[in-house]
Formats: sequence, structure tokens, C-alpha cells
Amino acid sequence: MPLLSVVLPAYNEEAMLPVAAKTLKDILEENAIEYELVFVNDGSRDRTWEIIREEADRNPHVRGIHFSRNFGKEAAIAAGLACSAGDCVAVMDSDLQHPPEILVAMYHLWEEGYEVVEGVKKNRGKESLPHRASARIFYSLMTRLAHLDMERASDFKLLDRRAVDAILSMPEKNAFFRAMSSWVGFKKTSLEFDVRERKAGTSKWSAWTLAKYALTNIVSYSSAPMQLVTAAGFLVFLLAIVLGVQTLVKYFNGTAVEGFTTVILLILLIGSVIMVSLGIIGYYIAKIYEEVKGRPRYIISKRI
Ligand code: UDP
Ligand code: MG
Repeated sequence: MPLLSVVLPAYNEEAMLPVAAKTLKDILEENAIEYELVFVNDGSRDRTWEIIREEADRNPHVRGIHFSRNFGKEAAIAAGLACSAGDCVAVMDSDLQHPPEILVAMYHLWEEGYEVVEGVKKNRGKESLPHRASARIFYSLMTRLAHLDMERASDFKLLDRRAVDAILSMPEKNAFFRAMSSWVGFKKTSLEFDVRERKAGTSKWSAWTLAKYALTNIVSYSSAPMQLVTAAGFLVFLLAIVLGVQTLVKYFNGTAVEGFTTVILLILLIGSVIMVSLGIIGYYIAKIYEEVKGRPRYIISKRI
């Protein structure tokens, strides 16, 4: 019997965990699927870890990983993938916003021979207007800059062992699971699902964490912003030629006194282009520095 591992990142999910564990247990046993639930406690400040321990005492199919602090959902997914033993591994939110029935359907697709089964959002669930708008901007940037179509992508996926091993073999620290699983290739299909409403607890993302997340992911999948710097430099250079010629002509005509406005405008313009450019380059250098330091993506303090 093949084993299905379900990776469930959890950050302050005390309210939803018992429900999630029970729902998954019931539905997987009903469908006679051999399974393990890998809960990754991402440094929660509530009783999440105690609840994972209780669930593990009650159900031998439950495993738990405890981070030493909050490392973020991406790190939790990576740890779950690394620790899972299944022939196929599914990743889903532990707040049950990803419907468990779809998990069963994904498993059957895997049995049919698909190696990557991606959950695609039919709707985006309940989200505020600014959230929806910024998500749209982010994904259209991703599509244009990184050539990855992810408008409706989610972290709800089921991967064959081979795809999991391919993802785990990548040493980069700023991994973006959603993009990585489509980047590795393999025989792929997708399944639509409706994002459910969260029954308890709150969303763990603030506008700030989402903005940082978006920036990191764009930078790790595209160097287009850096090429923007080159383009800006080129434009300013063209401008410099035109103004240089004009200045020289005026000088030789003996009419070169006026023009302080031009000087001030030029200094402002070029100064700001240089600073923005340095900022963009600095951002990439910071990311390179992070990768070069080779720090682990997460630190596990306990396991069950
Ligand atoms: N999560 C996590 N670490 C974090 C933030 C979130 O492991 O730093 C988990 C969270 O417990 C949940 C999943 O990631 O299982 C999705 O988070 P959430 O439901 O808050 O996001 P939303 O559904 O609102 O996009
Ligand atoms: Mg959620």
C-alpha cells in the first residue's frame, strides 16, 4: 500500500488543529488510504504544539515537528517535505481552507500516474479588497517577469516522491514552493477547488509580511528589476548626449550663462535614478548574501 504524507504548516492554529486532524483522519480512513499527518509547528505562541502532541498520542499516524521560532510558512513546508516518508506528499493549510475531499481526488490522480497535482483556486475565498488587489498586482508581475502563470495558484498540492526529492535537492534558501513545484516539471495536472472560509482563528498574514513575501519571490524568480537599472542608465545616457550637445553649442555661441534650472533638474533626476538603482542592486546583493551565508532555513527543536 503506498503511503500518503500530508504536510500541514501550523502557526497559532490551536483552534483549527483538532478539527483538521479529525477531519483528515476520518476522510482518509474512509477512503482506505494509508497516511501520515506531518504537522509543522512554526514557532506558535499558543497551544499548537501541545495539541499536536495530544493528537499524536491519540493517533499513531500523526507526526509533529517543532520549530525553535517562527520561520514562516515556506520554511514549514520545506521541513515537512524533508521529514515526510510518503510515496506521495500533499501540502495543505491546517485551517481546512483547502477542502479535504479534493485531497482524496488528488490522491486518485496520483494513482493514475500524475506526479504533480496542483490545486487551483476557483475563487479566492473571503479577502479584503486591498488584499485582492495587491495579490493581483503581485501575480501579474510574476507572470510578466518570471514567466510563471500563478494567478490562481495555491500551496495546496500533491507531489510524487520524485518531485519532492527534486525540490529538496535545491539548496536555495528563498524557495517559493508554489513556483518551485511547477518549475521542477514532471507529469502535471491540476484540480480546481473552492477556498473555504476559515472557521476559527485568523489569517496569519499582515499587509507588511505579504509585501515582503511578494518582493522576495519576485527577486528570486526574476532578474528583470536589475535589468531595469541598465535600461534607466541607458535612458539617462541618451539624455546626457542631447543636453551635452546643446550645452556645447550654446558655449561656442557665447550664450551659456542661463540654465540653472536645467542643472538643478538634472541633478535631481540623475540622483534619484542612481539611488533607486543602487537600492535595487542592494536588494539582490542582500539576497545573495543570505544565500552565501548558508544558514539553515529552519531549526527544529523537537519532533514526535
Ligand atoms: N502559516 C505558517 N507560518 C506562518 C504563517 C502561516 O505555518 O508564519 C500557516 C498557517 O498556520 C496556515 C497556512 O500557513 O496553516 C496558511 O495561513 P493563513 O490561513 O493564515 O493564510 P490565508 O489562508 O489567510 O492566506
Ligand atoms: Mg487560511
